Amino acid sequence: MTDPFIRLDRVSKAFGGVTVVDDLDLTIGRGEFVSLLGPSGSGKTTILMMLAGFESPTAGTVSLDGARIDRLPPHRRNMGVVFQSYALFPHRTVAENVAFPLRMRGMARPEVAGRVARALDMVQLGAFADRKPAQLSGGQQQRVALARALVFEPAVVLMDEPLGALDKQLREQMQLDIRDIHRRLGLTIVFVTHDQGEALTMSDRVAVFNKGRIEQIATPREIYDHPRTRFVAEFLGETN
Ligand code: ADP
Repeated sequence: MTDPFIRLDRVSKAFGGVTVVDDLDLTIGRGEFVSLLGPSGSGKTTILMMLAGFESPTAGTVSLDGARIDRLPPHRRNMGVVFQSYALFPHRTVAENVAFPLRMRGMARPEVAGRVARALDMVQLGAFADRKPAQLSGGQQQRVALARALVFEPAVVLMDEPLGALDKQLREQMQLDIRDIHRRLGLTIVFVTHDQGEALTMSDRVAVFNKGRIEQIATPREIYDHPRTRFVAEFLGETN
């Protein structure tokens, strides 16, 4: 890992007295691709929500590039978010869909146009700006959703099971596309998935979650060759 860029220090989160993230330490380097892998309910999405600013930790601190961010609202955190349900506006063009978050913040039209063009170039959809979502393939629609997350030119992109709804072939194509975008743009990506194969093929490091704690965090190779706990070994051995 390079210098710590994202840092969670002793972070806990409880909902109604039930602890779902338990005294967790996690550091992620600048430009790293880290997957949060684990069964449903293990706390992965809650971590992402605390990074994005949609949830606050019950205890502990979250920092980005050396500065505390856990009290900042989502739009001050320099992070883009992509969810599984990435609904695009069907009656708006690709460019209008990507412009939407900028327009919401009241950004002036010339600046919006420049940023939208750059974001569409990042996902190689520059030629599709004037199309409607229905005129695109599933993978292209997914890339529009990614462009919408990139339009603020964030340092970090948070992805929550972004490929969960796709069929196998498209899923594999998007895995390659996301890796390619990660490399080309030097983004830091935190990627939530319950799919072992996906985490192991895409990531620089994988954090394996169990009940709000990290059982092991290591490179895919290390995790695959040397699972540190029985839980990790058994979880990796399961097939989806
Ligand atoms: P994962 O992403 O690993 O599936 P989550 O972080 O979504 O896990 O959820 C962890 C636990 O926290 C689950 O038991 C879930 O029901 C609970 N939880 C998540 N968000 C809330 C919430 N807003 N209110 C109450 N419980 C929640």
